[in-house]
Amino acid sequence: MSETTCTALDVYKMLPRTNCQKCLLPSCLAFAAAIVSGSKKLKDCPDLDQASIDAFSAKYLRPDNKEVNQAEFIDKLQKKMASVDFESVAPLIGATVKNDTIIINSLGKDFALDRQGNMVSECHIIPWVQAPLLSYITHKSHADITGKWISFREIKGGIEWQGLFARRCEEPLRKLADDNPELLTDLIDLFMGKTIDWYEADIALILYPLPKIPVLICYQAPEGDLQSKLTIFFDECCSINLHIKSIFTLCSGLVQMFAKIAAHHL
Ligand code: SF4
Repeated sequence: MSETTCTALDVYKMLPRTNCQKCLLPSCLAFAAAIVSGSKKLKDCPDLDQASIDAFSAKYLRPDNKEVNQAEFIDKLQKKMASVDFESVAPLIGATVKNDTIIINSLGKDFALDRQGNMVSECHIIPWVQAPLLSYITHKSHADITGKWISFREIKGGIEWQGLFARRCEEPLRKLADDNPELLTDLIDLFMGKTIDWYEADIALILYPLPKIPVLICYQAPEGDLQSKLTIFFDECCSINLHIKSIFTLCSGLVQMFAKIAAHHL
């Protein structure tokens, strides 16, 4: 499995940092996050010269890197959208159809996609969501929420991605929760989540990044010499409703967004 080895900060440092928005994102920082999530390519910044792109790629990106794969993945999914029968699929995935677009709620916010797979709402502000949304709509199978929670490694294909998932999702979120004790409870209000009390944890909250992709975040605060613990669980239906790569992209994008929220609003 390939992966991009750079962080958003690594990318940000090599950008012109003018926030000119020619890449159609609100800032260079947003662009850097989009590179790490794989939804943008370095060449999408018109002010970067080829020599800088080549030098950066040689240092951080493997030839078969996730950035390239992700862009190709989005192209492939956009082509698939043409054959999706919106009216039939929408009720199966918890979506609605309006004005020839399919509308899906993610964390309390509506995202609309047209038949070419373009996001036609204000969703460009979180570009990493495009690939998981397309993957979710075009996925060949759909299942209802079961209420049974499983770990990431138990999801179909999860074992291969487990290490990267721990490094990019669970571990950064655990540190964020350690540094911002109010973060997880604030996320409940911000993203229409709900808490549960039947799981043994200091905080256990359910979020719906997609209508039929519920995630359960369980956090145990540090105590004495004991380090904190954070585990993300998934409803069993996630194995059927979304490819593992898209589940990973969705979660890593979420964690990056939570980090931004923690930095700017909490
Ligand atoms: S086009 Fe380049 S310089 Fe302009 S905002 Fe995007 S990343 Fe920054």
